[in-house]
Amino acid sequence: MESVQIMEGELKNLREYFRTGKTKDAAWRQSQLEGLLLFLKEKENEIYEALRIDLGKHPVEAYRDEVGTLVKSTLFALENLKEWMSGKKAKLPVIALLTSAELVAQPLGLVLILSSWNFPFGLSLEPLIGAIAAGNTVVLKPSELAPACSRLLSNCMPTYLDNKAVKVIQGGPDVGQQLLQQKWDKIFFTGSQEVGRIIMSAAVKHLTPVVLEMGGKCPAVVDSLPSSWDREVTVNRIIVSKYGACAGQACIAIDYVLAEKRFASTLVELMKIMIKKMFGENPRDSNTVARIVNIKHFMRLKNLLNDFEVQNSVVYGGAMDEENLFVEPTILVDPPLDSAMMTEEIFGPVLPIITLERIEDSIDFINSRPNPLAIYAFTNDESLRRRIISETSSGSLVFNDAVIQYIADSLPFGGIGESGIGKYHGKFSFDTFSHYKVVARRSFLTDFWYRFPPWNANKLTL
Ligand code: NAD
Repeated sequence: MESVQIMEGELKNLREYFRTGKTKDAAWRQSQLEGLLLFLKEKENEIYEALRIDLGKHPVEAYRDEVGTLVKSTLFALENLKEWMSGKKAKLPVIALLTSAELVAQPLGLVLILSSWNFPFGLSLEPLIGAIAAGNTVVLKPSELAPACSRLLSNCMPTYLDNKAVKVIQGGPDVGQQLLQQKWDKIFFTGSQEVGRIIMSAAVKHLTPVVLEMGGKCPAVVDSLPSSWDREVTVNRIIVSKYGACAGQACIAIDYVLAEKRFASTLVELMKIMIKKMFGENPRDSNTVARIVNIKHFMRLKNLLNDFEVQNSVVYGGAMDEENLFVEPTILVDPPLDSAMMTEEIFGPVLPIITLERIEDSIDFINSRPNPLAIYAFTNDESLRRRIISETSSGSLVFNDAVIQYIADSLPFGGIGESGIGKYHGKFSFDTFSHYKVVARRSFLTDFWYRFPPWNANKLTL
């Protein structure tokens, strides 16, 4: 009860601060983005250490996926802030004679960001960049499952950012629940579909708009590529984006592969070679595969794999080390489609390959399941590409690579259907945290007489 009161007091202060207009200043927004950059620079080693403690991430992976990506996104916001903030002139119909109009981007007010543990800095700060660039006050609740990272954010943000405008509140679902009882101008959530539903129900009370960045099962269609070069590049990209990005604990990681029966064994052999090349003969000792976040998620993966028929489908890997929360890069061929492995999001370094008679059958396979956050397709067949573009639905679709769509500031990132609601990154983040208010200005000079009663037939035939 006391913590709710403290929270309410803090939120009241944040609202009052917003009302002072301070956060609307371009100079304030710029200084906050610069503060974020400074944090990423000065605390770089502490960030790597926190990511090592929470997830066993290698610093190079941590730079690629979090620090480097965030520096890039912050610089992009700084470069474009003035342009984003400037009003956009709108064209008007002739009937609006001597009128000009523009869209004025205004901050929403006080926004809540709830983030996930798998990219604890990236998924907390990427939306924060948009929220402060747009001039909002913010409460950020990082995930309790990456405690070292959450602690670092909570300790450092008051030093690097205006602590009257940005608060980091640590805690788990209970704190999340308390926050959800409050009134927000937007809730930006990254996490599971299960909790996404809770967020949306809570938002109903105050008619709060929500962005839900969720997950699901992202398929990769892998055509029987004839060229050995194309095959090698394909396998390279599949292996790095499955096992080399938080050990598959990523919302846009490839969840499963769809390939033709006749190509499956070739694909498996190539994958085995590539796994050894990237992670060594003994990946557990090579510190290049991240750890599973906690024992609960480790046991979840163990249970997925322990199913008798799923066990029979393991063609590579499968070793698990509970003490070190390590799961070996694992490949399965044709686990039962009704097993939890194929109905739930895997979120770990286990990659099932589902074989089909014809690669074109992958379209029906994908369409018989919920809309994925991303679809990947490795193929040179232009007619297959066109069919996948027009016949499937997903947040993003990437040909001949995976995961790269995340880093582009020019592309909106988000899902569709059960994989998500709303978009962010680059200007889309700014837009997500802004309200585009219509401002029209009309001259007193003249008017069209037919818009005023009394009505008569002459006015109708004009
Ligand atoms: P989660 O839904 O369990 O937790 C997300 C956040 O919500 C955390 O901060 C957590 O403390 C909070 N939370 C949990 N229960 C809550 C409740 N009852 N009330 C209020 N807040 C609550 O998800 P997770 O385990 O952190 O993340 C894994 C999921 O997130 C996967 O499904 C993954 O696909 C998805 N994900 C999506 C993206 C994306 O950008 N689309 C990125 C990363 C992860």
